[in-house]
Amino acid sequence: CGIVGYIGYRDAYPIVIKGLHRLEYRGYDSAGVAIVNQENDLKVYKKAGKVRDLENFVQKVDLTGSLGMGHTRWATHGAPSDRNSHPHSSGDRKLTIIHNGIIENYAVLKEALQAKGHIFNSDTDTEVLIHFVEDIQHETGLDLREAVRVALNKVVGAYAIVIISVDDPDQIIAARKGSPMVIGVGEGEYFIASDATPIVEYTKNVIYLNDNEIAYVRRNDLLIKNIDNTVQTPYIQRLDLQL
Ligand code: GLU
Repeated sequence: CGIVGYIGYRDAYPIVIKGLHRLEYRGYDSAGVAIVNQENDLKVYKKAGKVRDLENFVQKVDLTGSLGMGHTRWATHGAPSDRNSHPHSSGDRKLTIIHNGIIENYAVLKEALQAKGHIFNSDTDTEVLIHFVEDIQHETGLDLREAVRVALNKVVGAYAIVIISVDDPDQIIAARKGSPMVIGVGEGEYFIASDATPIVEYTKNVIYLNDNEIAYVRRNDLLIKNIDNTVQTPYIQRLDLQL
């Protein structure tokens, strides 16, 4: 339902939590965060309930790190619960995803992946997508950027997704089809969100991703491609929105 991502030089967690609060008006049943710290350790915390409950849950945890993302979930596949909350990780725990929307062909994909030995920790359509990306990487040797692109070409449904990898802590991959996604452009930092409200206090320069676009975001680089692999010229818009 709500998505916030950050890559830059500041601590991601406060930005992500504040952003999730700003998105609370959309309604949700669970919340979660993933942070990658300087040692490339991935920390994932998620809980059914309010963003406030998540904050209490992680109160004593060290969540420093300048790459992170957070999600508020409105359950469509799998009951609202801690284990069904986002983020979800691949089987090897290297890839982590948050997702708004529905992967309609998740059941066939899940069956095929289970036949290959994939073990799932949730009932969500979302977890299937990240295992699918992992499987494509494993089968083809493609890098993560290409594996995500190949996966999205085979997925039916609507989505806004953010994917991070512990193997590449200078990258956020974001994509959309049918669900909104905004990228805030800073200097040496980028903000990702499902609408502009979490972003405006940091930068007024935003890019609205179009359907079928994938953004490959590094601290000092942004590449946007269509899922057919053509490079897109990003259109940076000035926001007048006041909070
Ligand atoms: N379909 C996903 C789920 O049920 C995402 C729901 C959402 O948009 O929050 O977990």
